Amino acid sequence: MIQAHVSNELFQRAQNSIPGGVNSPVRAFRAVGGNPRFMVSAKGPYLFDEDGNQFLDLINSWGPMILGHAAEVVQEAVQKAIPDSLSFGAPTRKEIEIAELIVSMVPSIEKVRMVNSGTEATMSAIRVARGYTGRDKIIKFEGCYHGHGDSFLISAGSGAITLGVPDSPGVTKGTANDTLTAPYNNLDAVKMLVEANKGQVAAIILEPVAGNMGLVTPQLSFLQGLRELCDKEGIVLIFDEVMTGFRLAPGGAQEVYGVTPDMSTLGKIIGGGMPVGAYGGKKELMDYVAPAGPVYQAGTLSGNPIAMSAGMAMLTYLKDHPETYTQLEQISAKMVAGMQQNLQQLGLNYTINRIGSMFSIFFTQEKVVDFDTAKTSDTALFGRYFNSMLQRGIYLAPSQYEALFVSTAVTEDLVAQYVQANLEALQEAHQG
Ligand code: PMP
Repeated sequence: MIQAHVSNELFQRAQNSIPGGVNSPVRAFRAVGGNPRFMVSAKGPYLFDEDGNQFLDLINSWGPMILGHAAEVVQEAVQKAIPDSLSFGAPTRKEIEIAELIVSMVPSIEKVRMVNSGTEATMSAIRVARGYTGRDKIIKFEGCYHGHGDSFLISAGSGAITLGVPDSPGVTKGTANDTLTAPYNNLDAVKMLVEANKGQVAAIILEPVAGNMGLVTPQLSFLQGLRELCDKEGIVLIFDEVMTGFRLAPGGAQEVYGVTPDMSTLGKIIGGGMPVGAYGGKKELMDYVAPAGPVYQAGTLSGNPIAMSAGMAMLTYLKDHPETYTQLEQISAKMVAGMQQNLQQLGLNYTINRIGSMFSIFFTQEKVVDFDTAKTSDTALFGRYFNSMLQRGIYLAPSQYEALFVSTAVTEDLVAQYVQANLEALQEAHQG
């Protein structure tokens, strides 16, 4: 039995001074029961908590740590940058270098602006789309999460749906009215919305592979159809690649599917674990951003030298080591093949969705292609499964509506350990 005395005490204490005891709701264990574990350090595939437990980490800080924790290449770059000061608030050479690197890696990006989080990236991208088109409405997809900007907390996935607040209080009716929603993978529904709001839609924003309702892959025809529709109607197509950027391929999901958006938003891996986001796209659109153009967007710490050093080291490594993606594909495929075998052995028929190093198990027999089908999963069963895995030293996302992220630190031995834990946890979860 893994002990959690210290974490439990810290969680009690945290709740007095921090809302819900956590600085981001997705870290709470509300949906799965129990208390969150408080971490002290992490290295390679492992997290170490306050009680001295070691966990095999399959969230990896919700995506950024694609090379595992405390990767030397990133740590060294940060250490080298620190003596030169933590912030200048003035331009640096590093910002040009990382911008040039991003432009060279991501197909749709001709110019890019660095920000401090994925939320800032998506908020800014739709402001540019609205400023450019002179239109107010946006279309997003049910179950997609684009950070906590007001416009996106409508039918939102991730922590919002986990906590049962996909439409957050505090968002004004006016803002909510400007966000139209459609089911993921449903091109006809989008066409109908566009038709009913002719000439009023500034942008269609989506996760080109959705990771925030559990992992849901797009039909290629859906992405291609959105591209055609946006071209025809003068709508800005935005791919939110905060999760998928640099994870599915050096150029993200747009490289994998060969569909090029007008704008892209990035985060997570781009900062190598530091708080970084970015948005970019066609020159014509990005030249609308201040001070080149009239759409205002700024940031005291944007392009922070330490964060840029971490990001630069991470992206340079990924660009120079394309075999990283082959390795991640092979390891992740083995993990999922092992899970499939376990399901078969136990006579269970659940759905596992995977692309590259992202995957989810849904406790439903239905094919999961959108938010409605994702919601057919038995979340109580997921909760028991999650806790059984935790007891076996495997740290998963504490919600059905999240994807797992595999890092290059997961070895063959760890795959075997994971698959065995999965078998036992599936059995235990069904006894509960
Ligand atoms: N977009 C997507 C697709 C995300 O997954 C997330 C965060 N998980 C965000 C935006 C928001 O990023 P952040 O948490 O850095 O604000």
